[in-house]
Amino acid sequence: MAGEPKVPVGRREFLASAVAAGATSFIGGADTNAAQDAAHSQQVVPSDVALRVKALESVLVEKGMLESADLDAVVETYTEKIGPRNGARVVARAWSEPEFKRRLLADATEAIGEMGYLGAQGEHMVVVENTPGVHNLLVCTLCSCYPWPTLGLPPTWYKSYGFRSRAVIDPRGTLREFGLELPADVEIRVWDSTAELRYLVLPERPAGTDGMTPEQLATLVTRDSMVGVAKVASPQGGRR
Ligand code: FE
Repeated sequence: MAGEPKVPVGRREFLASAVAAGATSFIGGADTNAAQDAAHSQQVVPSDVALRVKALESVLVEKGMLESADLDAVVETYTEKIGPRNGARVVARAWSEPEFKRRLLADATEAIGEMGYLGAQGEHMVVVENTPGVHNLLVCTLCSCYPWPTLGLPPTWYKSYGFRSRAVIDPRGTLREFGLELPADVEIRVWDSTAELRYLVLPERPAGTDGMTPEQLATLVTRDSMVGVAKVASPQGGRR
């Protein structure tokens, strides 16, 4: 020991060397996530946040304060049972019932709550309406705040640094990358979601949908249209 200069080793460097040496089990645990499995196979250390979450989970399970199965149940609820279909039902109802739309835009929390779609990560809601002259785009510049009860879990790109920064700096260019080219005279409003307040876009009802029932309309509404990176396509094809 004496004479050996001690070089401080950061957590990531330590883990990287451990992973390179094949010691993946202590950071892998009971992974079922395909992306993480792929990451492991490529000998990549998970992100700092993922490591912190795993460490916290391990401690809580070890202390008997949490069962891994409980966590799995929460994740499964949002990945398998709740998805953007709830949000699509809200939009379809707003397109079909003017009075509901008025209430939705005036107090989204109350109107969405009436449909039973409030809950964790979506306690307080604001709905912003797209019109021929205004297009709304949602982002969380700080992290990944997103209305889980109406839209399910956020897609990876929503959580990416690139989207979070560019949606604010260059919303028109960002939308172009999603394949949405808006006329220059359309105003783009960017809404920054927070832990306290989540937004939902009410897209424009596409042409060619007269006479459709709310159930039929809901099938047209996509997750991306409710985040504002797409429009709802007309059932005849093409975009309004
Ligand atoms: Fe966030």
